[in-house]
Amino acid sequence: MGELTINLEKVEARVAAACARAGRDRSDVTLIAVSKTKPVPMLEEIYSDGVRDFGENKVQEICAKQPVLPDDIRWHMIGHLQTNKVRQVIDKACMIHSVDSLKLAQVIEKEAAKKDLIVPVLFEVNVAEEESKFGARAEETAAIIQEISLLPHVRVRGLMTIAPFVDDPEENRPVFRRLKELSVDIAGKNINNVSMCDLSMGMTGDFEVAIEEGATFVRIGTAIFGARNYDK
Ligand SMILES: *Cc1c(COP(=O)(O)O)cnc(C)c1O
Repeated sequence: MGELTINLEKVEARVAAACARAGRDRSDVTLIAVSKTKPVPMLEEIYSDGVRDFGENKVQEICAKQPVLPDDIRWHMIGHLQTNKVRQVIDKACMIHSVDSLKLAQVIEKEAAKKDLIVPVLFEVNVAEEESKFGARAEETAAIIQEISLLPHVRVRGLMTIAPFVDDPEENRPVFRRLKELSVDIAGKNINNVSMCDLSMGMTGDFEVAIEEGATFVRIGTAIFGARNYDK
């Protein structure tokens, strides 16, 4: 058995255990394999183990990998999206997790209308208010989502956050809980065209806590593919 298959099985067991602890169905949580910087053969390896959801943070990388891998892969755009890259990614990603402004949503609207697509998106919230991170502030989120809801080719399906890098995942529990509370608040506003079904939160260091707090998408890179190498 390959190393990635073993890693995947370990992650899968941890996801299942976290679901069980939280009294949640395993099928309520989608594991996104974050394959950024990783070569196509590594993706093929876990594709053959059944993984169909892959996450990338660069438009360029989705565009390079998508044509050479099977059609039934769901590509999740999880990284910061520049408005000038929207056109390229819009018909390749099944969901954009990183919409954090009305401006970006408006550009998605414009490009989606041209291609007659309806684009599922998550709204990214910088819950911990880290300066280094993208994402709107929690306080402004509902008002921006109200505006986005008026765009006919964009569908807000929930919220996303990137929690701080911490040693003890328990430190991020309040962050995940806050995102969940915010999604419940917004769901209660019954905004047309907006659902709050999805919560994209939790990475290698903290996904179990995120599942316990209600994540429906966990984005896991390192625990499956190993450490990333950015120089070269
Ligand atoms: C890279 C990345 C991940 C995966 O991080 P790991 O710690 O390797 O699991 C998750 N979410 C986003 C937005 C990322 O950019």
